[in-house]
Amino acid sequence: MDLLHNQLAALQRRLAFVAVDPINWKLYVQSFTWGVALFETYLLLRQYPLYSKKEPPPALVGHFKQDEFEKSQRYGKDKARFSLVSGLYKQCVDSAMIQFGLYAWAWKVGGQITGKLGYGPEYEILQSNLFVAVLILVGYIPTIPFNIYQTFVLEEKHGFNKTTPQLFVADIVKSFGLGFAIGAPFLSAFLWVFKWAGDRFVPWLMAFMLSFQLSMVILYPTVIQPLFNKLSPLAEGELRTRIEALATKLKFPLKHLYEIDGSKRSSHSNAYFFGLPWSKHIVIFDTLIKESKPEEVEAVLAHELGHWYHLHPTKLLAISQIHIFTILALFPAFLHAPPLLRSFDFPKEVAARPPTIVAFFVFQVQMLLSPLEALVNIAMNFISRKFEWEADRFACELQEKVAVGEKEEKENAEMADMGERLSRALITLHVKNLSTVWVDWLYSAYHHSHPTLTERLKALEAFQVQKAKKSGAGGKKEL
Ligand SMILES: [Zn+2]
Repeated sequence: MDLLHNQLAALQRRLAFVAVDPINWKLYVQSFTWGVALFETYLLLRQYPLYSKKEPPPALVGHFKQDEFEKSQRYGKDKARFSLVSGLYKQCVDSAMIQFGLYAWAWKVGGQITGKLGYGPEYEILQSNLFVAVLILVGYIPTIPFNIYQTFVLEEKHGFNKTTPQLFVADIVKSFGLGFAIGAPFLSAFLWVFKWAGDRFVPWLMAFMLSFQLSMVILYPTVIQPLFNKLSPLAEGELRTRIEALATKLKFPLKHLYEIDGSKRSSHSNAYFFGLPWSKHIVIFDTLIKESKPEEVEAVLAHELGHWYHLHPTKLLAISQIHIFTILALFPAFLHAPPLLRSFDFPKEVAARPPTIVAFFVFQVQMLLSPLEALVNIAMNFISRKFEWEADRFACELQEKVAVGEKEEKENAEMADMGERLSRALITLHVKNLSTVWVDWLYSAYHHSHPTLTERLKALEAFQVQKAKKSGAGGKKEL
């Protein structure tokens, strides 16, 4: 532990200039956030002309009907236009908020409310909560017209929207209520641990964040998701039997198997799993069940269980710990830095003893780290795409992965075509979701957590060929 703290202290000495140098932090933040926004615009402009192509990529020609392909191109074009306008609009709003001192104003308003409630400025945690609430509310208002447009015009036009205005409003109210119910205790505990641990806060806060992440794994399916969707046990029948058999063969600790009414809001479809290591839940969208055959849904689940088999969620959690560690390790230099807060229009007396939450917001949430976060995002997408390939490969090779007993042999032979079934399911998913088929490589590297359909189909085919070769070679050895 001492070694860790010595290293962290050395890092802080290197960053000591932050506390004294009169750097124009506001200009720095404006330049970088605009840099990121303009780069994203450039990516959209690279991607946009691809929506005018008249034919699908050669690998997909046989799978898309011409009218389905044209529909997906029109949907992609509309979405790209929307992203272009909404992205620049959001950046203008954020930029104006930074320029005109929103952060300092929100802290002042938080202080005024604290005072009205009869508490003094020594109640920093209360004022911090109010500060965040004000920021979130004020930041939310300008996005409302765009959210409405996206749901009721864009998605509606292409036949995906199933949300009613009542449900739309209820969702917003619930989200805010939930955000407050979870966010306020979280923030209060975070700030308390921070104060309590003093200079040695890094390991303590990491332990706190990790236990929060783990408790969300339990709370999300049991408390949070049922507020928005209805999860009902998947009906008895072919699909249920297939998935249960698959879970048993892989020794996947399946506790509950749910169907979710995703169609309540949208016709986009999906499937996923979650839970603690010894008790997992699988959730399948009703839309997926409706659109695909049971053996294809089974293949989608085989892919999902590939993520579990290769410990992808655990690996992602470990990576997020490194990410959190980096942020926390860099943070103290910015905590005791009056010039930083001064350049964001905070009055002298606040800047002299910067409140933790304010320094943290300025430092992390959208500001100083924005260039670093953009790079982290690209790296995470790269890792995520690698995981997707691994899971696809797993589904392809499922037959060999499951334990082969004498009497299971016949059933496992039935798994031989899992790769083909997955291909068919992916094509159906893409066609029904009108997913983009032509993708610019740089746009994809930055935005996509999944490989494109063409890439996945090609890889699935390659896995199949490899498998055929392997089993051919294996056969010879036996002879
Ligand atoms: Zn996946």
